[in-house]
Amino acid sequence: MSVQRVLSGIQPSGRLHIGNLVGALQNWVRLQEQYECYYFIADWHALTSQYADTSKLKEFVKDVLVNCLAAGLDPEKATIFAQSRVIEHAELHVLLSMVTPLSWLERVPTYKEKQSEVKDKDLNTYGFLGYPLLQSADILIYRADYVPVGVDQMPHIEITREICRRFNNFYGEVFPEPEGLLTQFPKVVGTDGRKMSKTYNNCVYLSDPPKEVEQKIRTMTTDPQRIKRTDKGDPELSPVFQLHKIFSTKQEQDEVAEGCRTAGIGCIDCKKVLIKNLFTVLEPIWEKRNHYLKKPDLLEDILESGSKKAREVAVETMLDARKAIGLGGLK
Ligand code: SF4
Repeated sequence: MSVQRVLSGIQPSGRLHIGNLVGALQNWVRLQEQYECYYFIADWHALTSQYADTSKLKEFVKDVLVNCLAAGLDPEKATIFAQSRVIEHAELHVLLSMVTPLSWLERVPTYKEKQSEVKDKDLNTYGFLGYPLLQSADILIYRADYVPVGVDQMPHIEITREICRRFNNFYGEVFPEPEGLLTQFPKVVGTDGRKMSKTYNNCVYLSDPPKEVEQKIRTMTTDPQRIKRTDKGDPELSPVFQLHKIFSTKQEQDEVAEGCRTAGIGCIDCKKVLIKNLFTVLEPIWEKRNHYLKKPDLLEDILESGSKKAREVAVETMLDARKAIGLGGLK
C-alpha cells in the first residue's frame, strides 16, 4: 500500500507563538515520520483578512518557514512550500467556485463568527467568503488522504468533502474524498489567561529573546485570589498552571498544584519551574532559528524546491481536472 498523504497549512498572519508550536508544528513533525506530508505557508489565506496591509507579509512568511524548520520539519521528509508559488491552487479554486452553491460557504460557522469578532477589518469581501473554498482547492489539488484538524475545523473538511463529491458527480472521479485527522490540540492560554492570540497581545512568540519570555511568564496572570504569598490558591483557576499542564512533568504539576493549594510555594517559584521547562523546549528552537536566519539563500532554496515539488503534483492533478471538465486541448 502506498504511503498516505497529509496536507496542512499555516497562515503567515503574524509571528508564530508557543500556541502554534504545540497546536500545529509539533504535530507536523510527528506526522512527517509516518505520512507523505505537504505543508504550506498559506500566504493567499493571510490576504483574505489582511489584504489592506501587506507590509509585513514577507517577514511573516519567513518567520513561519524559519520556525517550521527550527521546530523540526525536515525538507528531506516533508514538502514545505508557499501557496502562492503554486498558482494551480488558484485555478482549482476558480473551477470549484463554479460548482459551489453560495449557501454552503455562508453557513460555514467561522465565516459568521469571524465577521462579528473582527471589528478592525472589513471582511465583507469575496475573498473572505471564499476562504473555505480556497482551502478545499489546497487539499484536493494534492489528492490528500488526511488533513490534521481540531474539532472546530471539522466543518471545513466537511465542506471540502461535499464540494469534492459534487465535482466528481458532474465530471467523474477526479478527487478522492479527504478525511480529517482529528487531533487533540492542547489549549494554550496567553499571559492574560485568554486564548493565546496575537489579537489579544498575550503571546509568547518563538522569536522572543529568552529575557522577554522570562519577563512575560514572570508577569503572567495567576489565580486572582492569591494576592499575598500566604493566600491559598486554586491552580485550576491559574493560567500559569494551564501552561504547566503542557510543559511540565506530571510530578512537577503535582508539586506546584499542592504548593499552590497550601500556600507552600509562592507564584514566583511556581513560575520559575515553568520558565525552566519552557526554556528546555525553546532553547533548541532558538538555536536553530539563529542558524537559519543567518542563511537567507538556504531558506529561499528550501521554499523554492519544496514549491517546485508541490507544483509537479498540482500540475498533474489540474491536467486531470481540466480534461474531466472538457477544458484544455481540442483533440
Ligand atoms: S502558585 Fe502557580 S498555579 Fe498557583 S496561583 Fe501562583 S502561579 Fe498560579
